[in-house]
Amino acid sequence: MQYFSTRGFGPVSCAQAILLGLAPDGGLFVPESFAHFTLDEIEQLGKLPYWKRAAVIMTPYLTDFNADEIEGMMRGAYAVEKFDDESIAPVKKIKDGLYALELYHGPTLAFKDMALQWLPWALPISGKKAGDGKKVLILTATSGDTGKAALEGFANAPDTAIAVYYPRDGVSAAQRLQMVTQEGDNTFVCAVEGNFDDAQRGVKEIFSSPDIAERLAQDGWRLSSANSINFGRLAPQIVYYFSAYADLVSRGDVALGDKINFCVPTGNFGNILAGYYAKCMGLPIGKLICASNRNHILADFLATGEYDARRDFYKTMSPSMDILVSSNLERLLYLLSGNDAQKTSGLMQALAQQGQYAVGEKVRELAAADFAGGWADENATSKTVAAYFEDGYLMDTHTAVGFAVLHAYQEKTKDVAPCVVVSTASPFKFSEDVLAAIGVDCTQMDEAQKAEKLAQVAKCLVPKPLAGITQKPILHTAICGKNDLGQALFGFVKAKEA
Ligand SMILES: *Cc1c(COP(=O)(O)O)cnc(C)c1O
Repeated sequence: MQYFSTRGFGPVSCAQAILLGLAPDGGLFVPESFAHFTLDEIEQLGKLPYWKRAAVIMTPYLTDFNADEIEGMMRGAYAVEKFDDESIAPVKKIKDGLYALELYHGPTLAFKDMALQWLPWALPISGKKAGDGKKVLILTATSGDTGKAALEGFANAPDTAIAVYYPRDGVSAAQRLQMVTQEGDNTFVCAVEGNFDDAQRGVKEIFSSPDIAERLAQDGWRLSSANSINFGRLAPQIVYYFSAYADLVSRGDVALGDKINFCVPTGNFGNILAGYYAKCMGLPIGKLICASNRNHILADFLATGEYDARRDFYKTMSPSMDILVSSNLERLLYLLSGNDAQKTSGLMQALAQQGQYAVGEKVRELAAADFAGGWADENATSKTVAAYFEDGYLMDTHTAVGFAVLHAYQEKTKDVAPCVVVSTASPFKFSEDVLAAIGVDCTQMDEAQKAEKLAQVAKCLVPKPLAGITQKPILHTAICGKNDLGQALFGFVKAKEA
């Protein structure tokens, strides 16, 4: 399997695509074709542990890796000890036809672990196969969860360093604490005076700057990415769509071959794009429902075919979805245009220069065949948390956006297909807003007390990764302007050399 950039560069091998992260032309790597799975093969997945499901689904894409390497990385990444649920990605039944795919049972309590527990196994092997002996410096912009998941995965990894940029006022208290208390002398965590889009743009600029690459190369470094622009993030995310379907079939909740919908709380369009890849690979998916918060640029795009980022940016209680430039949409546009790199480049150029583009009716209709879009405001989000809590199911604010959008979708379309809502984070990462939603006053409490309180009302324990987090020393205090990410990076690299 070879890989091409959405803007034309390539082909490269899988190892090269993972090692490079972003293509040199600024595009995103995509596989030349999709592997296909039969219904019979999908059903068989239901009998396998998660690590084997991952090996089956990802092997066709990992053509540089041999079977032993693949088994090693899957066993390591999806070891049961690292997750607090032995099925790794459990599908919880809410009621007939409605399910939650809980992807937050990994070490940092967010779905980002599903890919970022794997990438640290794949990257060093990719480096050996396709690299030049340089150490790898992983750059990450985070809307809250990717940063910690990447730090957790790469801390103290040999010949690797990791730099994370987060929007100073754009993450939850628990998310910030998780990052700034990160240990490991190869880690750098920096607040950016701006929002996530500023951080993501700054990181992409570092990637496309030949000057920075050269300065880093002189010091023996090459750059890679832990963001969902890296194909190494996308591939492992395909697995849990298959896994969820196979579980529903083996439990008898869904008949093999029947179509189901997935509703995905969306920001950078990475998670839901992996669902689309799964559909292209033969998984019986009806609609992929793209759920946005008040920053509903994607819902608008799916409705009109126009992507217009010239709008106000809102801070919401689902901060990891506060994004106006959704990188992975570029991969969808490329596919829907029939792999037309020139057309895709043109749209991305328009977005960079005019803040807007329109795809035309044909592509809009193609997108509408597979995707539905919707958004939930703050009020609907907290009401959804409260309503489900009342019925005995506790969810975080991002997942609540998904459920709220699904209800509106079902009411409008009368689409009664079974639906899996992808649950993207533990409610404990957003204790304050979750407590407020269920009517518990926590204004006088610190983060640890809020978590304790939530555990008490939900009659469960505070998840281990958050227990005692307010007692840990703060190890990262760096802060930079939204145009100074490169400078901050050199500061870190210098300090490491010293
Ligand atoms: C990252 C994240 C999202 C958005 O996922 P994308 O792949 O960026 O669309 C949603 N919810 C949570 C909790 C997240 O951490």
